[in-house]
Parts: sequence; structure tokens; C-alpha cells
Amino acid sequence: VRTIKEGDTEVLVPVPEEGANFAPSAAPVFYNPAMEMNRDISIAATSVFLKGIEPDPEKVITYVDALSASGIRGLRLANEIGVHTTLNDWSEDACELIQQNIDRLDIGDKAVASHKNANVLLHEKHFNIVDLDPFGTPAPFLAAAARSVVNLLAVTATDTAPLCGAHLNSGIRKYAAIPFNNEYHSEMGVRILLGKIARELSLHDKTMRPLLSHATRHYVRTYLEIKKGAKRADQMLNDIGFIAHCPSCGHREAINGLAVPIEKNCSNCSEENMIAGPLWLGKLHDPEFCSDIIADLEERNCGTGQKAIKMLEFCRDELDIPMFYDQHLICKKLGLSASEIDRVIQELRDNGFLASRTHFSGTSFKTDAKITDIEKIISNIR
Ligand code: SAM
Repeated sequence: VRTIKEGDTEVLVPVPEEGANFAPSAAPVFYNPAMEMNRDISIAATSVFLKGIEPDPEKVITYVDALSASGIRGLRLANEIGVHTTLNDWSEDACELIQQNIDRLDIGDKAVASHKNANVLLHEKHFNIVDLDPFGTPAPFLAAAARSVVNLLAVTATDTAPLCGAHLNSGIRKYAAIPFNNEYHSEMGVRILLGKIARELSLHDKTMRPLLSHATRHYVRTYLEIKKGAKRADQMLNDIGFIAHCPSCGHREAINGLAVPIEKNCSNCSEENMIAGPLWLGKLHDPEFCSDIIADLEERNCGTGQKAIKMLEFCRDELDIPMFYDQHLICKKLGLSASEIDRVIQELRDNGFLASRTHFSGTSFKTDAKITDIEKIISNIR
């Protein structure tokens, strides 16, 4: 093992043996330095969320890092925020390392190592905050997490190929939904994951309100405020639905509801629609929560702060309308060269439409304009 520092926390992590495969997943206990930004945001988001909970001296707020590996995420939370954490992993090596890290940091009063199958632990106990950060898909853990969680559910998914339609059948099996692998596949992945989580929560009469959801490089991450109530859950399910997309002209429509009529043909050009879903059509972020995380990160000592803030500003400011448009694809079809993305957004606004950039892609934008209006506006930019 060697010592690394993330935020204000020094943690022992494994070093792969010499000559061994250096992929993080090949180490006896997993540690991936590339996920530091994910963890930095996690610390800030949890800190902001906790500040919003009424303090009750009688009750201890509990957090579980259900798939901990070295424990780095939960160790940082206990050390930097002081929340009571359970650091769970079914690997004996991981659990030993977690205990060593707890002892070194001297945080035994607020962090405990747990050696269980995550699903068993989450079925046994309720936690205020549940964090799932698995290898690949979180799907096998969602049922137990939905049962356990009380206030905040944070989920990472690194299986972007199934989520985004690149591995179609695997995605259908894991998420019981059909994605598109087209220009907005990254947003598709986020919405397929959220749709699945919403349906798992509704089994327990629980609802979710996305506070922040982002697709970054090879993973999707979401933070969901959880509340209890059958009526609320019924309302939440109104945010589940389908996307009808015309591959011929690029027109797309969101259709809310689980058993709803969907036009077979495009309302713009009459070609046959493709249908994706069921997926989440509701909001992806709470702008105020994003601003609060940005303010927290500005104060916090963490390695990826500036990069994280830039991404969070895009999340905060993007229109919450499914799905984004890619300017390059539209220009290719029109035989035009692309313009500065801010210019396109300004032109859309000048023509009376809502428009914004998006964290999903630097060449893309979100708008309430239809494809025919967008094409006209882009064609007139010269
Ligand atoms: N959260 C960690 C971080 O931020 O560095 C990374 C976790 S790593 C991607 C996934 C971990 O889940 C591995 O250490 C693995 O041993 C553990 N794991 C996989 N399936 C499990 C299960 N059913 N129960 C408990 N742990 C499990």
C-alpha cells in the first residue's frame, strides 16, 4: 500500500504489484484516482444536503458507502464532514484496509467497517444517505438501496455502453428500458438510469427529486432527495415516459406516462419514429443545490475543485428539457460549417426561444425550439 491524499484526508490505497495489469480493477483492493472529481463533488453535495436537514440531537444521521473498496469516499465524508459512516465491502482485503484507514485517521467514533454483501446490509438497515459506487452497473443494488434509503440516494453507473444503447440487450436486461445510441446518448443514459431508480423507489411508496445528475467521461452520477408517500410516488411516476425520435429529420417528442398512445409517424416529416423508454422526463438538477455545491467547493480544499465547479455551472444553467441537440450533426445535414455554440444560443434567444449550453457536450445546446426552427436559425447565421 501507499499513502495518497484527497481533500483533507490521507488514505492507504493498494499499489498494483510490479509487472501486473495496472488497471484499478486489477488491484487486490480497488482505487481509481480518475474518480477523484466524482468524490470531491460527493463530499460537497453531501455536506450541502446535511446542512438542509433540521438538526435533531436525539438522532444520528447515517451514511453508508455500500461498495467501499479502500473506503476513500466514506473515509473522506467521516473525516471532512463528520457524518457517521458505514464503510461496507464484501472483500476481506478491502475490509482490512478500511479498518486500517479508520485507525490511522483516528475516526473510530464516526466510521465503522462492515463486511457484508451490500444487498444484505441494505435490506437489514435503513440509512439516511445511501451511496452506490459499483463496478459497472448499479442495477443489482437498486432494489435494496431503494428499500434502505431515507433522505438521499447517490448512485454512480459506469456501464455507459448499456445505458446509452451501445450494448442494447445488456441495457434492456439491466434497466428494463430501450435506449437510443444517437447524438444525445449521454443524456439518454442519465434518463434511463433515473427512470429505473424511480420505479424501484415507487415500490416502497418513495419519491425522488433529482438535485444533481451528470454524465462525465465514462460514468453517470446522480444525487436524489428521497421522500416517503404513496401520493407523491404517484405524482413522480408522471415524470416517467418515452421519447419518440424521428431518425430522418431529428424531430423529437417527450411523451409522459406509462401506457400512452405514441404516434407511429413523425409529426414533422411523417417518417417512422423510433421509441425509447420508459425513462425519466423530469428535471435532472435543482439549480439552487448546484449553486450551493459550487459555493461549498470554493471553500473546500480539493484537487479537482475548479474542474468540478465548471461542470456544475453548466448543470446549474442548462435548460431542463429533454433532449439536447448537437450543432455539428445539424450543420452536417445542412452542409454548413459550425458556428460558435454561444452564437447559436444567442440567435435562438433572439428569435424568442429558450436556449442554453449543456454539460453533456461542448458542441450541443438545449432549446424549446423545434428542429425546423433550429435549422432555419442556424442556416441564417453567416
Ligand atoms: N466506492 C469506491 C471508491 O470511491 O473508490 C469504489 C468501489 S469499487 C468500484 C466496487 C467495490 O464493490 C469493490 O471493492 C468490490 O469488492 C465491492 N463489491 C462488489 N459487489 C459487492 C457486493 N455484492 N457486496 C459488497 N461489496 C461488493
